[in-house]
This record gives sequence, structure tokens and C-alpha cells, in this order.
Amino acid sequence: MKKFFRIMALCASLSLCCAGCVFRQGGAGGQGGTGGGNAGGAWSYTDTAMGTVVQQSIYVKGRDAAERVSGEIMEYLGRLEREMLSWRLDTSEVYRVNASAGSGEGYALSGEMASLLQDCLELYRQSEGAFDVTLGPVVRLWNIDQWAAGKQTGDFRAPSRGELDEALELCGSDKIIIMREDAPQPGRESDLTIILPEGMMLDLGAVGKGYALDGIRDILEQEPEITGAVISLGGSVLVYGEKPDERSWRVGIVDPLRPSENIGVLSLKGQWCITTSGDYERYAEADGVRYHHILDPATGFPADGGVRGVTILSKDGEIGDGLSTACFILGAEKGMELAGRYGAEALFVLEDGSIVMSEGMEDYFTYSAGR
Ligand code: AMP
Ligand code: MG
Repeated sequence: MKKFFRIMALCASLSLCCAGCVFRQGGAGGQGGTGGGNAGGAWSYTDTAMGTVVQQSIYVKGRDAAERVSGEIMEYLGRLEREMLSWRLDTSEVYRVNASAGSGEGYALSGEMASLLQDCLELYRQSEGAFDVTLGPVVRLWNIDQWAAGKQTGDFRAPSRGELDEALELCGSDKIIIMREDAPQPGRESDLTIILPEGMMLDLGAVGKGYALDGIRDILEQEPEITGAVISLGGSVLVYGEKPDERSWRVGIVDPLRPSENIGVLSLKGQWCITTSGDYERYAEADGVRYHHILDPATGFPADGGVRGVTILSKDGEIGDGLSTACFILGAEKGMELAGRYGAEALFVLEDGSIVMSEGMEDYFTYSAGR
């Protein structure tokens, strides 16, 4: 009998609410850039990068400045994917690190990658292994990238227990060796070399967008004439500076049980990163079973700790993004404690639709009417 299957790639997990306007984040894919319109003092652009929709609202006097900065941000995102984060492109550092697995010689890390990986390894320890960037072989087995791109048109089949066990053998951040060179290497920003065992494959999908938001914030900080900005990359949003009317930035949090609706809105001033991990963002269905993209390293299966979505509010995008993934797997109790250790606020939507949030989050969150 032919299997019934459905692949969804819905990256909308947050929606941005400006005074008098609400726009929702787009899904994966897209048809190139649009924009340049000005509403309420913000120049708006929509484009795609890193496999997701990029929405930019930039508050600055003059179209020329807005276009220049928006172009710079898109260029940066392209470069980040091409030169650092992609596991697919042989021009990227992640690709080259993965290609070095099993060689024994290791790979000499750039300063940026060394710092990102050290943060990821620390989060692996802090989350007791729930967050693990070495899950690449398991992510490939599920073919999650194909769900994201919405390209998979053949039958979807969940991997077998045996296949998952084989792939899990190749995973585990504790198997990574990072060595410090004795003498500083001329021309290198880092003196760290990474050694991966045969078959190991890094996948930085859980932190990439948050890391990108930090880079975008650095670009905006170089541009004193920009008074404010809201930049959204799929489920990750940066709010920056102030609105001209000094009102708060309003970021809607999608209801994972009814993704066309918001559970509520965060009202924020100044610079913040808002990152969400939800089971509705990317998933595939086979034989009536739905599989989402946030995997439990203990089983190789989609995490089922009773959580449907986690939103993290933090100053730092990379940490926020990593935490949202880790907290989804850990569940509300342990996740809340982990977020607190990093000084971040957390909001969990549980299976029954109930909401649990940290005390600090309550200062910013307003429930949608009727909840
Ligand atoms: P996010 O949407 O930020 O929660 O990231 C999910 C993505 O991170 C997935 O599409 C995988 O590429 C990867 N991933 C899935 N499970 C894990 C995990 N337990 N630890 C680290 N990365 C993961
Ligand atoms: Mg994440």
C-alpha cells in the first residue's frame, strides 16, 4: 500500500508586530529579494539566505543608507553560509572540518569557529548532552534539510532503530578532541586544532541563525545613523535600537498548537534576540505519524519531553539559539534551570497548550486576547 506522507517546511515561529502593522515571518525557500518600501520610518526588505526568509526593517533617514546596510547584511549572511557554516558547500569551514574526520591530523580552526565550537561544547556539558552539534549523521539520516527546503517529493520513511543506532555511534561531542598548539602559528587567529573521529559530522543548524544575528548586530553597530532595526531569520529575531516614537518593539510568539495564531506578544526596548524552537517549524509525516526536527541525542528520535515550543529571550543570539534547542529537549523544568544559568529568559508551550515561563519573561510577555 502506498504510504501517505506529507512534508512541511514552515519556518514561521515568530511574528513581528509593529505599531499599526503585523508581519509574519516567511517559510523556507523564496524567490529572491523584494522591498525598499518605507512604512512608519522603516525601510523594509525581504530576501532569502541560510535556507530561510530574511526580513529586514531598518530605521534610518534615506533610502541609500537603508539599501547599503541591507545589502551588507545579505552579503554577510551569504558569506557566513559559504565560508563558515554550510555542511554541504566545500568552501565552508564546517565542510572542511567534517572532511578531516578520521584523518588523525585534525583541522586548524579559525578564531571564529574555535570560539563558536567552544560555546557549543560548553552547552553540551551544561545540557548534559541534550544539545549536541555532532548529531550530523542522524540529521542526515532523517533528511531534515530536505524537509526544510520543501523539496522531498518521494516517500518519506522514518529511519529504523538499527540505522539510528549505527548513526548514533558516530555522534557525541565528548569524542571531539581540541588541541592547543604549543607555539602560535603565524597568520592564524586561533591556536586550536580540532580532531574528529572517523564518520563524525558537525551540524551547526541549531545555532547558525542566532550566531548570524550577533554578526548582524555588529554590522548595525558600525552604522551610527541607524536608529533602530528588526531583523528576522526564520525563527530567530533581532530587535535593535529604538523606534522613532519610542514605543516598544512587539514580537509575537506563535502558538505551536495553532501556528496561524500567536499565544502572545513580547514588548521590548533596545537590543534583544528572540529565538524559538518548535515542533511545527519543520516536520515530515509518514503513516499518520508526525516527526519533527529537534532530535533527542539519547534516542536519535524527535524529542518528546512534552514541549511543543520554546522561546528564549537573550542579549546574545548564538546562546539564545542554542538554548532554545537544548531547552526543547530537556523539557520545562530542566530547561528553565539551564536558561537561568545563562542569564536568559525562557517560555515553554507544553503539549496541552499550557504556558510556563521564567519570572523575568513575565515582565515582557502579554497573552493574546482570549487566553
Ligand atoms: P533549532 O530549530 O534551532 O532548534 O535547530 C534545529 C536544528 O538543529 C535541526 O534542524 C538540526 O539540524 C539540528 N539539531 C537537531 N537536534 C539537535 C540537538 N539535539 N542538538 C544540536 N543540534 C540539533
Ligand atoms: Mg536553536
